[in-house]
Amino acid sequence: MGKQLKQLTNRIQYLPHDPATDRPILAAICGRRQTLLVDAGNSDTHAQLFLSELDHCHMTNDHSVVLTHWHWDHSFGANQLNSVIIAHENTKMHLEKMVDYDWSDEALAHRVETGVENQFCADMIKKEFGIDRNITITLPTITFKDEFEIDLGGIRCVVKHVGGDHADDSSIIYVEEEKVLFLGDCLYPSIYAQQPHYTIDHVRQLLETIEMFDADIYVLSHESPLSKADFMGYMMLLKLICDLTEKHKSNHSNLVNELSTLLNRPLSQLEEEIVYCFMNGLSVG
Ligand SMILES: [Zn+2]
Repeated sequence: MGKQLKQLTNRIQYLPHDPATDRPILAAICGRRQTLLVDAGNSDTHAQLFLSELDHCHMTNDHSVVLTHWHWDHSFGANQLNSVIIAHENTKMHLEKMVDYDWSDEALAHRVETGVENQFCADMIKKEFGIDRNITITLPTITFKDEFEIDLGGIRCVVKHVGGDHADDSSIIYVEEEKVLFLGDCLYPSIYAQQPHYTIDHVRQLLETIEMFDADIYVLSHESPLSKADFMGYMMLLKLICDLTEKHKSNHSNLVNELSTLLNRPLSQLEEEIVYCFMNGLSVG
């Protein structure tokens, strides 16, 4: 059996993200007494894969799981984990709304039409679960408002609510001893809107909070872990586009021209997309 688990630091292992069905990174932070899992996976199968991988490494001590936010790909595996689930109070609120959802093609299509669900997530749910969509939403056991601290034995994790455009319940997990910051999806744009967007105020507030934590490795759920240098570059880019959006407002070509002059090259596809999301955010307020 191929071992898919990767070592992030001495005491943190992770299962890499998988774009095929939008599976996010799942991680295990291992203390002497307890293991904290970061996110529950997008399905029973995803959660089971993670548990069996952890089993192979003989990581059998008690575990609890913390959810970075309510989105399906981070939470639907929770019922397989048989553990205490820690989440922000809004995460619980959002999940509560979904407990009685019907997951048939018709019901999904209806929710996409009414803007409750987005097309990408609906497609990925169908792909992950196939025809037999037996989805059980498990509600968090412990909720917090602003911050939550858990001592795993020789290693402490701070879970902090940050919100942002992507999801109002987004929370980050800081592991000081390992200098790792788990960001979930908090830095990604909103997806449950007509158009994906970033708002200047939300992004600035988010970056300010993130900067309070000093880490060497930054983990965004749908990409490979980033080094400090790479992450700083990403933060700088977001800050710069905030400033330029404020300056040029909806004048897209002036914004793009100034940004590419500053970067001394044409924009990458990612940069184009970020600018597009900021433009969309102007009308959101
Ligand atoms: Zn998300």
